[in-house]
Order: sequence, then structure tokens, then C-alpha cells
Amino acid sequence: MDIYVPDYYENFRCIGGTCHDSCCIGWEIDIDKASLEKYMKFPGALGDELRANITRSEDGSDCFALGENDRCPFLNENNLCRLIIAGGEEMLCEICSLHPRFREWFGDRCEMGIGLCCEEAARIIIGYDKPFGLHKIGSEEGGEALSPAEKRLLEIRAELFKAINEAESYAGMTEALLRISAQAESELTGNSPARITFPRDSAYAEKAVSLITSLEPINAGWEHLCQKLSPINIIPENKALAGYKDLLSYYIFRYFMRSASDGEIFLKTALGVFSAEAVSLIMSISGQSLADSACLWSKETEYSLENLELIYDFLYELYYT
Ligand code: SF4
Repeated sequence: MDIYVPDYYENFRCIGGTCHDSCCIGWEIDIDKASLEKYMKFPGALGDELRANITRSEDGSDCFALGENDRCPFLNENNLCRLIIAGGEEMLCEICSLHPRFREWFGDRCEMGIGLCCEEAARIIIGYDKPFGLHKIGSEEGGEALSPAEKRLLEIRAELFKAINEAESYAGMTEALLRISAQAESELTGNSPARITFPRDSAYAEKAVSLITSLEPINAGWEHLCQKLSPINIIPENKALAGYKDLLSYYIFRYFMRSASDGEIFLKTALGVFSAEAVSLIMSISGQSLADSACLWSKETEYSLENLELIYDFLYELYYT
């Protein structure tokens, strides 16, 4: 199995104590089996502390019990991880050592990326000044050869990246992405959406505001932001192209190939286009940068299956009915 990463992947380094929004605050971290075994046997005072701070989450998985202000009990006053300080990165459980990286597998191919939910990763992704590209970083055992459909989807994804790179306007870029994806869905599944253009009318604006404000709040400040939201700021104009090329490349990279298993080719692209609109909206009402707005949207949607499902349902209704 070959492993590929975006060209900016190696630029990522956690900024630790200078991060405004440590990922070690507010998240219940599930501990994988191998790490749990290691923690249960770990000697000395740190071992005692580890065992005293492991609890069971509502879904029955083992996790660290969050402390005051929902902080990981091993996060020190400088927002640095005491486990790393004491024993290096190998002390981390799987989720902590991977975050904010993600992996997607299909056939004999594994793709890894960094997620927009991390403010430093978002700055790298959105500030990348070259066309999106991938390179191979290694191979490992396992995986079956790519199916003909997976190979074709990879070709279509390359077309989408090309359309992004060659776009001269935001509207032209999103139109091309939706058109290519609709054609691909028709070719590979026989289905096609009832419409392929992004709506820009007041009925759409009302529905989009209603959807965004109905998402389960994941971040502190999300509800406050939603209070400022109104249908009149939902139809943004004249977006600066460069940052949105990076943003749409990220969504196409992270989600498009998932359609190999569910056949929802067009909806994967529609998710990226809608996310770009939502990020633009957050930016306009919060005054934050594009990268910080993308980070906020990512935390609200990419790690909540419930919120992601609500968005897919909304997009299905928008484009297929
Ligand atoms: S959000 Fe990113 S930069 Fe901040 S602590 Fe987590 S991994 Fe590091």
C-alpha cells in the first residue's frame, strides 16, 4: 500500500503553548487499547497519575477525565503536554499522536493529510502558495489493487484539482467543480442531481441560515456567532480567489474519494462548495481571517457526524429534489 500526503504536509509542527485553542481542551480523548495497556503498567508517580485520570466515556470507551475548564489533566499551565515532557511523543495515545492528521484508505492507497480543525494546520493549508499536489512518503503491507471505479474517481479528482488551479474567478471555479462532479456521478452511477448550480436567492439564504444555526454547538462562541447570522449576509460576493482555491482543494482531497464507497460523488463536491460559502460567511460576521474561519467551521462540522449528516441532508434536498 502506497502512502501519499499533500505537498504542505511536512510543514506542519504543533505550536503547543502558543496555540490559541489547544486541542487538549474541551475534547474527550479516547485511549486506544495498546496505549491503555501501556498506561496501566506504567511505573512511578506518573503511572499512578495516569491510572487515576482514566475514566469511561458515555459510549463505553476509555478516555482521560477532563479537569477544570475541560482541560486534559496532563496539560500544564503553559499549555504543554506533561506526558511528552516526561517521556517523549511515544507516551501519547494514538489519537493524540495523530491529531490533527487524518488518513483515508481506498484500495492499495492510503492518503494522509492535516485537518483544518487545528489553527496552525489551517494557516498552512490556506496560506499554501502553490497548486495542490501530492507526493508519496512510503509504503506498507496490505490493501487490494484499486478497482476500476476507484481509478476513474482518482482521474476525475485530478480534473477537479486542475479546474481549481486554472480557475480565474470564484464563481467559475465552483461552477466547474459542480459540473464535473455531476457528469462523473452520471457516468459511474447513472444518477444525477436535479440542478448543478449553486443557488443565490433569498429562499436558499433562509434555509442555509436555518441549517447553520441548527448545528449542535461544538465550540465555545459558536452560539454567539450564530446570533449575528442573518440571511442578508449569506450571499457573499467577490471572494479573493487564492485562499478559496486552497480551501476547496482541501475538501476535494479529504472527501471526494469517499464516494468510492457510497456513490455520492456530487454531494462530496457540494460539501466543499457549501463549506467555502459557510467559511466566507463566518469571516464576514466575525472579522477573523479565512484560515481562522475555516478552522472554526471545521471544528463545528468535521468531527461531528451528526452535524455532517445534517449538512449532507440539506445538500441532498437542495440539489436532488
Ligand atoms: S490545535 Fe494544532 S497547534 Fe494547537 S495544540 Fe493542537 S495540534 Fe498543536
